Amino acid sequence: MTDTFKAILVSRDAEKKQSVDVVDLTEADLMEGDVTVAVEATTVNYKDGLAITGKAPVVRRWPLVPGIDFAGTVISSSHADWRKGDKVILNGWGVGETHYGAYAGRARVKGDWLVPLPEGMSAHDAMAVGTAGYTAMLSVMALERHGIVPDRGPVVVTGAAGGVGSVAISLLSSLGYHVIASTGRNAESPYLIDLGAAEVISREELSQPAKPLAKERWAGGVDSVGSHTLANVLSMTSYGGAIAACGLAGGMDLPGSVAPFILRGVSLLGIDSVMAPKDVRLEAWRRIGTDLDLKKLSTLSRTIGFDGLVAAARDIVDGKIRGRVVVDM
Ligand code: NDP
Repeated sequence: MTDTFKAILVSRDAEKKQSVDVVDLTEADLMEGDVTVAVEATTVNYKDGLAITGKAPVVRRWPLVPGIDFAGTVISSSHADWRKGDKVILNGWGVGETHYGAYAGRARVKGDWLVPLPEGMSAHDAMAVGTAGYTAMLSVMALERHGIVPDRGPVVVTGAAGGVGSVAISLLSSLGYHVIASTGRNAESPYLIDLGAAEVISREELSQPAKPLAKERWAGGVDSVGSHTLANVLSMTSYGGAIAACGLAGGMDLPGSVAPFILRGVSLLGIDSVMAPKDVRLEAWRRIGTDLDLKKLSTLSRTIGFDGLVAAARDIVDGKIRGRVVVDM
């Protein structure tokens, strides 16, 4: 008998109208790859929300199983690095965009895309971190490479109550930074302080059109919002500081000026998690294993079942999700 497993499939009709269905697949339906993985946990990232709602052109192959990240156990492998039983994580590489993704009981991918699950971390923990958290770690590493250490001054985190924001606050505060969290949800202040924010400011302060330069407020930051927010964050960064730009939850534009760069020597650090090279991923996951407080990880995440996945994907695009959502498969 051929084993079937549940999957979410997004399809388009002749009029390009998108539909989302729960279907039964077999391994024969999966795309090419040299490692097949039993997916144990996945998650809902902002990009997954865009894929499922069709709000932005994330899906570039039809039909497609969405889901940009998973953790699970290797079932079969012809790749030299992986054997049956190995615990692995996948983030990005076009999975859930052009290659069948995480929202299925099984996934077949290239072995080169996988990284080992860090020691002491479960598949569930890894997906509480997920691509959002791994991106937060990449952002922190970029700030460190630029010399933005806790002694340099406060750091700002925008989109604070979201996935990237919540993990960034946890990491930065554990590393000793004074974290200023910017949120549009003032009711989440106690949650943000619990994660380690020293100050909480309103999203409104950063969402108006930016002046070329404003009062210096922070030495660095992690921005997951873009648009006016990023322009304001840059205009308020102190001399020689740096901002890691990783998101566009508020918009893809950057309506600012070059003044912070040419008058204050501020740097804008671009963060991409999807095509990040393997050595960088391995270092990011190693650092997550050592620097992220697992107690904070449970504060910032909640677990849903496969049945709740589509609704959570719609909620994340509406800015209604706090922290991270883990999907137990
Ligand atoms: P979430 O939806 O969990 O978080 C985004 C947060 O941004 C929201 O919680 C909200 O925070 C804030 N926000 C939402 N809408 C607006 C708005 N219109 N104006 C200002 N703030 C807003 O998403 P993720 O944390 O998973 O992802 C955040 C961003 O990072 C996304 O754009 C995503 O695509 C990007 N990303 C990029 C990656 C990369 O490789 N570069 C990888 C992973 C994510 P609050 O309510 O606290 O204000």
